[in-house]
Amino acid sequence: MSDTYLELVNSGFTAELAKRLGLPRPARLRRFRAGDQLVPGPVLVLADGAAGADADALAATLLDRDLDVRRRPDGDHRWGAVVVVLTGVTGPADLSGPALDLAGVLKKLAHGARVVTVSRAAAEATDPAAAAARQGVDGLLRSLAKELRGGATGNGLVLADGTAVTSPSALGALEFLLSAKSAFVDGQLLTVQGTGGHPPADPDRPLDGQVALVTGAARGIGAAIARTLARDGARLLLVDVPAAGDGLAAVANETRGTALQLDLTSPDAPQRLVEHVRSRFGHLDVVVHNAGITRDKLLANMTPDRWDSVLAVNVIAPLRVTEALLDAGVLGEAPRVVCLASTSGIAGNRGQTNYAASKAGVIGMVRAQAPVLASAGGTVNAVAPGFIETEMTARIPALTRQVARRLNSLQQGGLPTDVAEAIAFLASPQAGGISGQVLRVCGQNMVGA
Ligand code: NAD
Repeated sequence: MSDTYLELVNSGFTAELAKRLGLPRPARLRRFRAGDQLVPGPVLVLADGAAGADADALAATLLDRDLDVRRRPDGDHRWGAVVVVLTGVTGPADLSGPALDLAGVLKKLAHGARVVTVSRAAAEATDPAAAAARQGVDGLLRSLAKELRGGATGNGLVLADGTAVTSPSALGALEFLLSAKSAFVDGQLLTVQGTGGHPPADPDRPLDGQVALVTGAARGIGAAIARTLARDGARLLLVDVPAAGDGLAAVANETRGTALQLDLTSPDAPQRLVEHVRSRFGHLDVVVHNAGITRDKLLANMTPDRWDSVLAVNVIAPLRVTEALLDAGVLGEAPRVVCLASTSGIAGNRGQTNYAASKAGVIGMVRAQAPVLASAGGTVNAVAPGFIETEMTARIPALTRQVARRLNSLQQGGLPTDVAEAIAFLASPQAGGISGQVLRVCGQNMVGA
């Protein structure tokens, strides 16, 4: 489903008209294209007074990537990114210097620029002043993201104490947040913990030689996930219901994957899946629980079949399948499990009590599974899309859909590829220090999240 309004405000005389009338003007987002630079201009690395060494270390790794990296906000640049290193703050007053340095360059950001804060976890600070400063970064970042324009985004990395700024997962997450792959990720902080993960041997094919399962792969977000994981080098096992067999076969052909028609809610589905994995692949490295349904009704009008079917597909099936894969010992050495949640499961949504219960359930599930996956050398995370342009959202009545699209800081719906890129990042070898987390892909939804 294309967004005609976005096209109109970005072309010809209608763009000029929208400007004069003061209408919202969502920008075309900078999305990944092979061969493009990581960021669309020089990178400025700012720091609080005590974070100089961390900032130098990060600047050095960015320089190694052949980026134009500066430590001072001088010169006449269109900045491609600003990395604000706040790992040394010990009290709220320490935020002032870097915040005001950042203020000075905000009008000189390139289209699709990135602002990324790097800070320490407030929950780990025992000193109240340090905790206040660390938590202050949260408010600064979330508000700044609402002020950025021109497809620029603001996100933060929160490092657990003891996790170095140059640990593989911190660098992997920083690269994702700077890149065009995070086009629809905005206004959020991602926690990195521990030293797990390692850089891939081939950065262009981080999943080379790995086997990935994607459920609900016949269309929409699932099909985009399949294409993105195939691009990254994975061999694919793609699952969908028999009724979606044609779509599934088409995606499998395109991505050279294997199609398995299976209703994931059937009692023997986990066992059939395990047997298929054993006989065709031997093991799985990546599991993406994407299959999902909506059956919206106000709770007052809810029927048992609507409630039960949504819970069965969205959360009970992923629970059973992950458990079966773990029990059968068919997960590889550093497995990555990624589950589709939703911002409805974070903020709630009228008419979606069943759906929100299932998607909040997914968030609870990944938190509780994180230690289990850690003991198997792996990670498990949730990705929570906001409004994404798919057949699911195309069914929303036209006016409601127009409004829903604009209710985020980027004033537009995301694309399936935006969700797929976030999943590919969490599935990558470098993301070993990120587990039990929820990564929102929602353009900073104004509602609740
Ligand atoms: P979609 O309806 O286009 O695709 C979902 C796929 O899952 C379909 O191919 C369907 O056949 C398959 N599926 C459903 N039940 C199944 C079952 N029992 N067994 C096997 N496969 C089954 O949906 P989408 O928009 O691509 O959404 C994908 C995921 O993202 C879902 O989990 C959804 O809840 C989530 N999500 C989507 C949005 C959005 O805006 N589109 C927002 C938040 C979350």
